[in-house]
Amino acid sequence: MKKKEIVLKGIPASPGITIGKAFLFGREQYTIPRRNIKEDYIQNEIKRFKDALVQTKNEIMEIKKRISEEMGIEHGQIFSAHLLVIDDSMLIEEVITRLKREKLSIEYIFQDVLRKYIKVFSEMDDEYLKERISDINDVGRRILKNLIGAKEDVLSNLKEKVVVVAYDLSPSDTATMHKKNVTAFATDIGGRTSHTAIMAKSLEIPAVVGLESLTKAVESGDEIIIDGTRGMVIINPLPKTLKKYETDRERFVAFEKHLLEAKNLPCITLDGRKVELAANIEVPEDVTSVISHGASGIGLYRTEYFYMNRKELPTEEIQYRAYSIVAKKIKPESVIIRTLDIGGDKFLSQLEVPQQMNPFLGWRAIRFCLARPDIFKVQLRAILRASAHGKLKVMYPMISGLEELRQANAILEEVKKDLRKDSVPFDEEMEVGAMIEVPSAAITSDILAKEVDFFSIGTNDLIQYSLAVDRVNEKIAYLYEPAHPAVLRLIKTVIENGHNAGIWIGMCGEMAGDISMTIILLGLGLDEFSTSPIAIPEIKRIIRSVTVRQAKEIAHEAITLPTGKEVEKFARKKLKEIVPDLAIEVE
Ligand code: PEP
Ligand code: MG
Repeated sequence: MKKKEIVLKGIPASPGITIGKAFLFGREQYTIPRRNIKEDYIQNEIKRFKDALVQTKNEIMEIKKRISEEMGIEHGQIFSAHLLVIDDSMLIEEVITRLKREKLSIEYIFQDVLRKYIKVFSEMDDEYLKERISDINDVGRRILKNLIGAKEDVLSNLKEKVVVVAYDLSPSDTATMHKKNVTAFATDIGGRTSHTAIMAKSLEIPAVVGLESLTKAVESGDEIIIDGTRGMVIINPLPKTLKKYETDRERFVAFEKHLLEAKNLPCITLDGRKVELAANIEVPEDVTSVISHGASGIGLYRTEYFYMNRKELPTEEIQYRAYSIVAKKIKPESVIIRTLDIGGDKFLSQLEVPQQMNPFLGWRAIRFCLARPDIFKVQLRAILRASAHGKLKVMYPMISGLEELRQANAILEEVKKDLRKDSVPFDEEMEVGAMIEVPSAAITSDILAKEVDFFSIGTNDLIQYSLAVDRVNEKIAYLYEPAHPAVLRLIKTVIENGHNAGIWIGMCGEMAGDISMTIILLGLGLDEFSTSPIAIPEIKRIIRSVTVRQAKEIAHEAITLPTGKEVEKFARKKLKEIVPDLAIEVE
């Protein structure tokens, strides 16, 4: 009898569509019989146990190293907790004492001790200790695998392509899955930012998490569709469902192919002008997507993430390692690290910024850092130290005038002096830039340009400040117009002033990824666009389809138009003429 189609909705964790065979990955893979052993075997059992611990430790260190290199130190750290479990002398002693007393096989005793540990931890009130259960479980299974001499992890030893379905996947499960036969995965638990979700993105395979009852509904061998874009899972699809998803998958594959084709093409105009097309990131893991979308470097690395989800302030070491990883991965291209931009809509729990009447106009970004040089210096030291490993640049957010810029630069100089004194290497030539996101900075950009190496226009804030439109207020969203003549004039001023002073100008606000504005910005002379990785292929295609002369003419005309609506209409018309087959609908 044909099985019933079951449709489940979860949380989209990694985009794409896979149609395949389900593989139900469970926890209880090893059945350990209770077996008596002779007295003279005890030493042998102890040796086997110790060997298994060493082998497990080596495996985990290997995984830790690989994950730290590929995904960032934060993810590698997960395995430090695993190493602590292996080195837990209480657990080891208890196993050996019981072995001597009960004379049962080491596997059996170890499994039993492990179960008791897990029970004790699960009854604790402390949330942190409760979370350690998954570490103990994960390491315990690995030690057992090595004790019974199971050759390889199930997930790294799959003989055919499968879709992994599990209640949850531990870091060590996902780590062993790497580039193997797993074409997608789906789990009962997990959220959008859970480790599993992040890992799926890094593996670039479709994934859906948080499906709650999936493992109860599916059996190994069932046909299954994973739609990681919409967060859907369909078990035993009907022919018509299958047909629909096959078409969707083809479309997605064609889109990816299009991305891939554009990936290695240079970002130059039809008449040969090279334009820097960089990406914005928030965490080191985003680098995978930056590279796969063909960006030339990182134009904005927002660093607020370090200060979130943490009880303590991030140490110099943590920041240094993350910046170094990103610098090394992006090398020889450059990475622009923006110093802490707390305040406005970015509240960070451990930094006690008081409630303010006008947070966007208040104690924010560089204003906060200048008032707290203790915090600012830690970040600058980490950035400078990491600059020895690649091409890093630094920029300050929300500069409103020359004095702020000078103060920030003076602190940077102090940090450099300290590093020189301690003989710590850093890039003496590291470029320093200012974000231009406050109208006063845009208007006085001729003055600021003399004391920086570059500008990066932060349109998200520049628009809200110049049009007096709160960027997070839905009610007045209709007034938030990137194409407003005032905004275009400010951008034009900044680019002209910067060029007159001999510096380059980038843009890292959302406007840089708005395809209807690309030609105008190019025509105004913008040197670098930095946007989210997914917007990059289309922006590149537009830049490759136009000459600088055409772009200049269009920008020239656009800037004479009296309203934002008219600018936008004109820009879209021109874009359609120049690139008739856009992948994204602009009307
Ligand atoms: C901007 O303001 O344009 C910008 C890039 O910074 P953020 O969005 O982080 O304020
Ligand atoms: Mg900003």
